[in-house]
Amino acid sequence: MKDCLFCKIVEKEIPSDFIFEDDRVVAFNDISPQAPTHILIIPKEHFNSLMDIPDDKLDIISHIHNVARKLAQDRKIDGSGFRVVNNCGKEGGQSVGHLHYHLLGGRQLAWPPG
Ligand code: AMP
Ligand code: ZN
Repeated sequence: MKDCLFCKIVEKEIPSDFIFEDDRVVAFNDISPQAPTHILIIPKEHFNSLMDIPDDKLDIISHIHNVARKLAQDRKIDGSGFRVVNNCGKEGGQSVGHLHYHLLGGRQLAWPPG
């Protein structure tokens, strides 16, 4: 989508080192990491948020979670634990309007979130 930051990353208009890429998703380091591992996993197709995925495309969510599992193994945080986060909408804290999941780990994470 035009003027979408993450679409531009997908299209390589904005440089980013992809940690993982397949036909449906890319993963790259968050520019402002909140933990030793802070990776964003995003679909190549633009959806504004979790609420904007059509029912017949919801399998992208399980795929993203599967990529999160693989990356957690690669980073060796699968044993210690990690968090997969989707911020949805204004009060959910979503700041980029292209669906994305955060994979956070490598330190003890606090709960509840602020
Ligand atoms: P959210 O607040 O859930 O919408 O998450 C958006 C995330 O995107 C934040 O953690 C930002 O640090 C991150 N971010 C913003 N711009 C970039 C960028 N150019 N490259 C990588 N991560 C980014
Ligand atoms: Zn987009």
